[in-house]
Amino acid sequence: MTTPDGSGRGSGAHGLAGRPPSASGRTGTRLYWVPAAASPSTAAAPAMPSAPVVPTGGFDVEAVRREFPQLHREVNGHPLVWLDNGATTLKPRQVVEAVGEHYATSTSNVHRGAHTLARQATRIYEEGRAEAAELLGTPDPDEVVFVRGTTEAVNLVAQSWGRANLGVGDEILVSAAEHHSNLVPWQLIAKEKRARVVPVPLLPDGQLDQDAYRDLLSHRTKLVALTHASNVLGTVPPVAEMTALAHRYGARVLVDGAQAVSHFPVDVKALDADFYAFSGHKVFAPTGIGVLYGKRDLLEAMPPWQGGGNMIDSVSFDETTYAPVPHRLEAGTGHIAGVAGLRAALRYLSGLDRQAATAHEEQLTAYATAALATVPGLRLIGDAPGKIGVLTFLLAGVDPMAVAAQLDQQGIAVRAGHHCAQPALAAYGLQSAVRASLALYNTVQDVDSLVGALQGVQATTAA
Ligand code: PMP
Repeated sequence: MTTPDGSGRGSGAHGLAGRPPSASGRTGTRLYWVPAAASPSTAAAPAMPSAPVVPTGGFDVEAVRREFPQLHREVNGHPLVWLDNGATTLKPRQVVEAVGEHYATSTSNVHRGAHTLARQATRIYEEGRAEAAELLGTPDPDEVVFVRGTTEAVNLVAQSWGRANLGVGDEILVSAAEHHSNLVPWQLIAKEKRARVVPVPLLPDGQLDQDAYRDLLSHRTKLVALTHASNVLGTVPPVAEMTALAHRYGARVLVDGAQAVSHFPVDVKALDADFYAFSGHKVFAPTGIGVLYGKRDLLEAMPPWQGGGNMIDSVSFDETTYAPVPHRLEAGTGHIAGVAGLRAALRYLSGLDRQAATAHEEQLTAYATAALATVPGLRLIGDAPGKIGVLTFLLAGVDPMAVAAQLDQQGIAVRAGHHCAQPALAAYGLQSAVRASLALYNTVQDVDSLVGALQGVQATTAA
C-alpha cells in the first residue's frame, strides 16, 4: 500500500488537521510545548479493550513467530517478551541461515575474483542491492549505497554532499524528534563550514510543528534532516509534504528511515526524498549493514568521502579516477555476509502481506496504548495520530532503569534511558524514559505481559 505521502499508511493521519491550533506555547521560533494536565496518569484511564484485538486481514502472527528462533527462548526463567525492537529487531531463520551459509561454505570477496565463489558472492551482493532498491521503491539499484547503518549513511551525506554544498550562513533544519545520528553529523559539518543547525520544534503530542517549519524555511535552508518515524515518540511526520515545501526553497531533504522500513511500506519516489537511510538490523537483517539511498544525479555529483579499493577506476601518482556510483562511495571490502543476510531479510519481508502486517501493528499499538493507560501512575510520551508502535513512558516514583530491570526479571526486554534522542525528551522536560517498541511478531499476549508486570513494579527512587 503506497499512499500519496509515500508512507504506505492511512491517509490523513499525518496531516495538519489534528494538531492543536493555538496551544503551541510559542516563545520566539522555539515552540517546545510540554503537555500538562492531560497526561494519561491524571486523565481517567480508558478501559482495557474487553476482547483482545485479534489481527485481521490474513496476517498469521503465530506463523511469523515460528520463523524467529529467539522468540522461543527463556530469559530469567520466563519466556522472552521482546519489546526492544526500536533498538534492534530479532532475525528470522532465513537470515541466520544466509549468514551461516556465507561463512560455512560460500566465503569469498566480491567484484574482483575470477572464480566461481567470487561470482556467486557478487551475485548475492548485487541481488541484495536490488532487494533494497525494491524495498525503497526505486527502480535503479545504483541509487543504493551500502553503508554500516543509518549513522554512517548520514555521516556520508554530511561529509560528502555537505562539505561540497554548505557554506557560511547556510542553514540545516533538523527536527527536534531526530535521533542523535541525524543531528550530530550535521553539527560537525556545520561547525566546519560555519553553517547553522536550526531545530524544527515539536507540538505536545509529538507532531512536528508545521507552522514553525514553514516559518523557518528560507533560501538559506540547504538541507532538511527529517525522521520518517521517531524512535522515541513514534511520530510519523508528513514527509512528502515537508519535502515538497523544502524543495520550493531549493533545499535537499534527508529522511532517516531507521524506524520506518520495518513498520510500513516506503516509497522514496513518492516521498521525493533526496536521501533516505536505514539500518539492516532494524529490519530483521544483521548488524553492520545499512543503506543510503540517494537520487542518482546527487550521488554522481558527490565527491568520494573515503578512498581505497573498490571505489576507483584507475590509480596513478599523477591522477586517480573514480568508479561510477554506487561503488565510488563504497571504499574497501563491504559487509558481504551482512548483505547476504539483508537480502534474506528483505526477501522474507516482501513475502509477507505488508499491508496486513502494518494493520496488525496498528491494532496492537492501539491496544497497547489503551492497556498502558490502565497502569496507575503511567504517563505516555507522544501520542501523535498515526504513530508507530513506540510506547515511551514514565512510571511515577520509579526510575526508568529500575522499571526496565524489574521487567527484565520477568523476561520482558524494554529499553530505558535517553534513547539517543536527548532533544526530543528534553522537549518534554525529561532526561530518561522507558520504551516498549513493537514489531510485526508481537502479540496481544506480549502487551498483556508488559502491563501485568508494570502493575507489580515496586517503587524505588523518584523518576
Ligand atoms: N535513527 C533512528 C530513528 C534510530 O532509531 C536509530 C537507532 N536507534 C538510528 C537512527 C541509528 O541507527 P544505527 O545505530 O543502526 O546507525
